[in-house]
Amino acid sequence: MKKQFAIIGLGRFGSSVCRELHHMGHEVLAIDKNEKKVDALSDVATHTLVADVTDETALQRIGIRNFEHVIVGIGEDIQASILATLHLKDFDVPKVWVKAQNNYHHKVLEKIGADRIFHPEHDMGYRIAEFLTSEKVLDYIDLSSDYSIVEMLATDKINNKSLVELDIRAKYGCTVIAIKKTNKVDVTPNPTEKINKGDILVMIGNKKDLRRFQDGAL
Ligand code: ADP
Repeated sequence: MKKQFAIIGLGRFGSSVCRELHHMGHEVLAIDKNEKKVDALSDVATHTLVADVTDETALQRIGIRNFEHVIVGIGEDIQASILATLHLKDFDVPKVWVKAQNNYHHKVLEKIGADRIFHPEHDMGYRIAEFLTSEKVLDYIDLSSDYSIVEMLATDKINNKSLVELDIRAKYGCTVIAIKKTNKVDVTPNPTEKINKGDILVMIGNKKDLRRFQDGAL
């Protein structure tokens, strides 16, 4: 379903969110106080606007309160990010998602009602470290500080073995939720079907258990 988003602050984060949403077929209003940043996105945003979002009346004129989902990508100017978030919550925008620059910024955003807070640089650093330390990990989603979902590459060691034979849940305490093969994703993997080298196991579990599986079984 097509959705409408407004993105405020078109730095590296805001502009890549804008491109991705456009690519997915959604409508995006892209806003920045810098005209050059706005022009650079004119071919991917549905509408663009030059505005200083710390100015409440400017936001009102834009009709920002009609958006259900607004993303604030202002990072460096923490004061502007906080003020924009405050205005958006005052306007009762239901979903205000904000990029935080550091932990203090995060705390303030939480207090003033930001609905979701991102730390893209930190998260990316973490993910990259995870990938760097294992060529078997293909993708990674953090669920909490202890749990994650990981895509792992099936190696020679488990080639031609089934989930029953591997007995992963009993031995490692983690669960295979899907198996990706060349042309399909099996979300209800048959426990007796053989896994082939090169298949991708999508697994959920405690990070320690997932690492034990990765080091021991693969
Ligand atoms: P990134 O790290 O993602 O590149 P930046 O903090 O460098 O993020 O970029 C933030 C963007 O937000 C810049 O393009 C800047 O012009 C814009 N911006 C900063 N303050 C305001 C404001 N008050 N109103 C609108 N846009 C703003």
